[in-house]
Amino acid sequence: MFEKIKVPEEGEKIEIAGDRLRIPDKPIISFIEGDGIGPDIWAAAQRVLDAAVEKKYGDARKIVWMEIFAGDKGQQVYGEGVVMPDDTLKAIPEFVVAIKGPLTTPIGGGYRSLNVTMRQKLNLYACVRPVRWIPGVPSPVKHPEKLNVIIFRENTEDVYAGIEWREGTPEAAKVLDFLNKKMGRNIRLDSGVGIKPISVTGTKNIARKALRYARDRKLPSVTFVHKGNIMKFTEGAFKDWGYELAREEFGDATVTEAELWEKYDGELPEGKILVKDRIADSMFQQILLRPDEYSVVVTPNLNGDYLSDAAAAQVGGLGMAPGANMGDFVALFEATHGTAPKYTGQDKVNPSSLILSGVMMLEYLGWQEAADAVVGAMARTVQEKVVTYDLARQMEGARKVKTSEYATRIIENLN
Ligand code: NAP
Repeated sequence: MFEKIKVPEEGEKIEIAGDRLRIPDKPIISFIEGDGIGPDIWAAAQRVLDAAVEKKYGDARKIVWMEIFAGDKGQQVYGEGVVMPDDTLKAIPEFVVAIKGPLTTPIGGGYRSLNVTMRQKLNLYACVRPVRWIPGVPSPVKHPEKLNVIIFRENTEDVYAGIEWREGTPEAAKVLDFLNKKMGRNIRLDSGVGIKPISVTGTKNIARKALRYARDRKLPSVTFVHKGNIMKFTEGAFKDWGYELAREEFGDATVTEAELWEKYDGELPEGKILVKDRIADSMFQQILLRPDEYSVVVTPNLNGDYLSDAAAAQVGGLGMAPGANMGDFVALFEATHGTAPKYTGQDKVNPSSLILSGVMMLEYLGWQEAADAVVGAMARTVQEKVVTYDLARQMEGARKVKTSEYATRIIENLN
């Protein structure tokens, strides 16, 4: 089936059955180690996840790992220049659930971002980033525990669609000519030009995923974040289509902020989800000043990029922030930081982001006990102040340990 990937003999495929996943007791899950610090943090994450599954389920359950390749390792295995082998793009949807370390993106040349390529080719239209505080982690705010949100960022459209033309090229001149002459605009001729598409389909897909998540987990609110006061037909439409979908498909389960006051005197009826919207700039203040008023947050691509990193900073930074790229069923879990190349091979950096992405993956499999065990053990380890350099420099009296030692201590703390 594949050119270079070795499918393990043990284990079974996760299958899509109707609108659900069928998870075998020994699912085959593909992983990409990643570039730079990837191998260090992956080794740590894999050990912690395996130990938690064994602790909670004994022999009854086990993840059967299958290595797939991209980035530097893609080139090692498939030959120079092959950074995103076809095998990898075939294996991820075939085996449904995958996890990856960070991959290098050359700036201003070389190849396009592999992460963006995977999102677009596999239609992983939702970037999902839970942001919550692990007790003990140093934070720049007084009450980091008040922030507990999950951000659903649209992943394929907006200015990230990659439709742009460099200043001075014939293509840019053609687009400018059209806009200036045919559409009555007055854009400077020495401009680069980009396009910001936001569709009904893309918006409703991400809104549906977020509302389903809120409904299934009985969460109190879903907030659409947008810049619709300025960009009415893209960002403003995003908000309008979000409300439209909530009304059409989740009408019985939702109440809008306007209805809350008109019909319910400001009291959210039991079991309903409050649907609201915020303008992006105001939302950056809100998550700092009144973080506990937000639960599920839905954003277009660019705003979501900024907002998820800003929110992550409140609870300890990117080293602690997990994420996933998801389609309807296929899910690719990943560390949210980059390859931190200066620390390559030093067994030094914090593997928590990838470990917590693994926690999201365990939750996605429905293996909640193992997921909770990892979070508890990580919290205990951080509270003991056994941490990697990045957290140690923010804590008094910390014992600074290597990536692998931190993972070992988390495993010892599993219960
Ligand atoms: P970065 O790799 O995230 O690293 C920036 C800084 O963040 C590091 O120097 C380090 O700060 C801190 N950091 C990141 N990960 C950490 C960890 N696990 N533990 C502790 N500290 C950590 O960002 P970058 O240098 O801008 O990007 C490097 C490469 O990664 C680029 O090629 C970029 O395109 C790629 N990238 C990939 C992804 C992805 O695969 N999803 C995401 C972002 C970037 P200090 O040195 O101050 O301690």
